[in-house]
Amino acid sequence: MHLPESVALRARTIYPMTGEGPARGWDALAAPLRAVDNGVILLHGGRVESVEQWPTHLPAGMEVRDLGEVTLVPGVVNAHCHLQLSWTAGRACMGQGFAAWLRSLIALLRAQDPAEERAAAIDGACAALAEYGVRHVGDYAGQDILAVDAAAARHGVGVTHLCEWFGAKTPFIDSRRPWPPRCRRAAATVPGLGRRCAPAGHALYSTDEDVLRDAHAFCKALDKPFAIHLAESEEEMRLLELGEGPLRDIYSGSVLPESWRAPHLRPVAWARSLGLLDSGTLAVHCVHVDAAEAALLAHTRTAVCLCPRSNANLAVGAAPVEMLAHAGVLLCLGTDGLSSNSDLDVCREAVALRRRWGLPAEALIRMLTVNGAAALHLGEGVGRLCHGSAAGVAVLPDELLP
Ligand SMILES: [Zn+2]
Repeated sequence: MHLPESVALRARTIYPMTGEGPARGWDALAAPLRAVDNGVILLHGGRVESVEQWPTHLPAGMEVRDLGEVTLVPGVVNAHCHLQLSWTAGRACMGQGFAAWLRSLIALLRAQDPAEERAAAIDGACAALAEYGVRHVGDYAGQDILAVDAAAARHGVGVTHLCEWFGAKTPFIDSRRPWPPRCRRAAATVPGLGRRCAPAGHALYSTDEDVLRDAHAFCKALDKPFAIHLAESEEEMRLLELGEGPLRDIYSGSVLPESWRAPHLRPVAWARSLGLLDSGTLAVHCVHVDAAEAALLAHTRTAVCLCPRSNANLAVGAAPVEMLAHAGVLLCLGTDGLSSNSDLDVCREAVALRRRWGLPAEALIRMLTVNGAAALHLGEGVGRLCHGSAAGVAVLPDELLP
């Protein structure tokens, strides 16, 4: 929601999330949260001053905006998105499995809209993110990184550009500069953009393994999140375990080099053997994991971003959320892009999990706020209404009320 620089926001209930660390394990996720009933958030100069109970003493002349019988949480984190695919909204094939969706997306990308239309779609998507109360987005970046960066800034949404490497053997560090070349060129044109970027792997089957290792090591050295799609579909399992299936057909000779050989491992095991699983890594999806793999993700302190509506739309299955939570994995939420979802409202992901698994509201609020912030290596000022943090609140859907 758009907020004035200085205002007192009154709501029925506010969850400030101050003092909350990232929550791992069922007990930590489900623990009661401190609520301020009949609360007010004082914003001054676009920053949080304090969260108090109403009535309270207000600075002279401060506007009071009564939001009524709503519950507010800190601006939420959408930890996985593809803003550059916003123009594909409603155009890709859904409900018929991953391969059918991917084939349709590739066809769209080959005949893609002009840059201005893509930029307009990105701007609309960022406006919607702001409206949903998204404070920060972890966005897979590519050719439209500059349009995404500008639109996010225009709408007051923080962004971590996860610069994806796709296919081929481009050296990770070329002339002593990391990043995929297209992001490297963009970073050179906008001062400070590099600080918002982190190199990312697309997936184990679509990014060269040397690049994955180098990008991961680079992220680790600079304390940036290293993101990768992991264990999303049956097609991915089949390709990595058996070296066959529709992904091999789709990618052979283009993304997959002729010399590519299957590791004959499940995705989590292959990621582990490449040294990619640790506290700096954000694994996206993790639909196809078993109990031992959930324990391994927890043991290595790998964060997992769940995208339940995207998974349902592509009919790839559902991540074993309770198993991951009980194992102690750091869980956060993302919408994925508009190529596989109807909107970018990450609170709807929490609603989907509540409906399917009956997860406690406290767990979902933590995934939306402090856990998302931790997974993207953001500071204390994201996911919490701390004094001095940038203004940003989300209205909690009624279905997520504790
Ligand atoms: Zn994705």
